[in-house]
Amino acid sequence: MTDTFANLTVEKLIKLDWVQLEPHYAALEKADLNKTTIADWLKYWTEVSDVCDELYNRLYVATSVNTADTDAQKRFDHFMEKIFPRAMAAEQKLKEKLLASGLVVEGFEIPLRNMRAEAEIFREVNLPLFVEEEKLGIAHDQVMGAQTVKWQGKEKTVRHMEVVLRELDRETRKKGWELLAERQLADREVINRQWVEYMELRERIAANADLPDYRSYRWKDLMRFDYTPANCGTFHDAIEQAVVPAVQRMAERRMKALGIERLRYYDLFVDLSGKPPLKPFSSVREMKDKASAIFHHVLPQFGTYFDQMGAEGLLDLDNRKNKAVGGYCIEFAHTKRPFIFANAVGIHDDIQTLLHEGGHSFHAFESFKLPYFQQRNESAIPMEFAEVASMAMEYLTSPYLGGESGGFYSEADTARARVDHIETDLRFWPYMAIVDAFQHWVYENPMDGKDPDKCDGVWSALEKRFRPYIDWGGYEDVMMTGWQRKDHIHQAPFYYVEYGLALLGAVQIWKNALENQEQAVSAYRKALALGGTATLPQLFETAGAHFAFDAGTLQEAVNLMETTILDLEKSY
Ligand SMILES: [Zn+2]
Repeated sequence: MTDTFANLTVEKLIKLDWVQLEPHYAALEKADLNKTTIADWLKYWTEVSDVCDELYNRLYVATSVNTADTDAQKRFDHFMEKIFPRAMAAEQKLKEKLLASGLVVEGFEIPLRNMRAEAEIFREVNLPLFVEEEKLGIAHDQVMGAQTVKWQGKEKTVRHMEVVLRELDRETRKKGWELLAERQLADREVINRQWVEYMELRERIAANADLPDYRSYRWKDLMRFDYTPANCGTFHDAIEQAVVPAVQRMAERRMKALGIERLRYYDLFVDLSGKPPLKPFSSVREMKDKASAIFHHVLPQFGTYFDQMGAEGLLDLDNRKNKAVGGYCIEFAHTKRPFIFANAVGIHDDIQTLLHEGGHSFHAFESFKLPYFQQRNESAIPMEFAEVASMAMEYLTSPYLGGESGGFYSEADTARARVDHIETDLRFWPYMAIVDAFQHWVYENPMDGKDPDKCDGVWSALEKRFRPYIDWGGYEDVMMTGWQRKDHIHQAPFYYVEYGLALLGAVQIWKNALENQEQAVSAYRKALALGGTATLPQLFETAGAHFAFDAGTLQEAVNLMETTILDLEKSY
């Protein structure tokens, strides 16, 4: 019963419908499951899941590479309506069958642990509440998406206005930022109302799952087996102790360079060299060739993976009309290939995105070697480590950005790009701490957490604790409503600390590479190949890092980042 889909081509795969998939799920459900049959059964299940997953991802990609392709949209909608719910229900039945069998398979301990946790919090009564939560999310998106301003005669989105924060002229930055802030404050009351609805809904979800509060629910939902809320508290303290003073020093250098007395929010992002923005490439071809050279320097095999993706049409990098925004890396599990989507327009951000997504794609290549879908699919690999793969790649590639390595820049421009990257990462930690600490407070104190005025108060206190270097004088309303502008808080509760933890892993790997690149990259690659078959501490250890929350580990990372910045600043 295995190798059922061995000859299934992509052309045929994307035309599959539920009638072709259903018999396989039915056969798996009916099959006799015991010690002798389990290996074949899991292999068969993997083949079906691989196909189903690739079908979903292919259809999704088709809608994002051409948003005007109504046929692709129709096929995707059909999948979401007719195939997805059925496939999810069928997958659930197979998980239950496996759990009920009590059978253990080597390398399957972690997937089984995940399935058990899923089953533990699953409640039929919560399904309609998730639909309500989804609807609230759409309503929230509508409010946020409508936040545009008229800037220099044109309607601009929030994302567009972020570019204004990099304008060299301070008065322009100030005007643009104030205009946007004013527009966002106009929605304060409606977001407050939505927030109360979210809180009440989430209390019910937790109660239905027989858990004391929503945080306990979410912890299991996010499969956080390897750390606790208390660890997050330790991490916040460590950030206050190790990162905040370094960013404070950065802020002082910034004020001096800009010749200003008070550092405003709109002064944080402007390039201090006073030079025009970096222009790394003039064609996507050039971007691909240079990125390939850079990846080859990290490890020839990574360069080969990247070239293979290029040759097989798995890199859609140029910005064009009718393309969805943003960038991502997605997996085609049946064909065992990743796919990278981006919107390159010729700025440094494009390079940073490609190097980041490149890390994700190598993670996919390495973990595809695992036999079972449940060991390697995107939801099986913990985010805290998936982002190590990508963030570490940004650091591992950083020594090779220069022309002498086949990269993009002169020595001075390489230094500018690297300083911008490290500063952005350093500034991220305190902000992440605010976002995370705020949510712990909210769900520890649900009565107060439901009161928007109290939320404003707590957010203000956190701003003072973690970002004392920003002068908010005269902008108190903007400052205290920061929680309203962070989508994760509303739509993906508690999902954010992952990036902070991953960054700490990434910097440790970079540090190893500075001492011995070959050894560091080899350990990193070994960890990628584990997919989702190990715990977070094991994944980090294998990659040569510690899964850490403490001030000591963080201080070491910060020291390296800060000394590198000071060193690089000498080159421009
Ligand atoms: Zn990522």
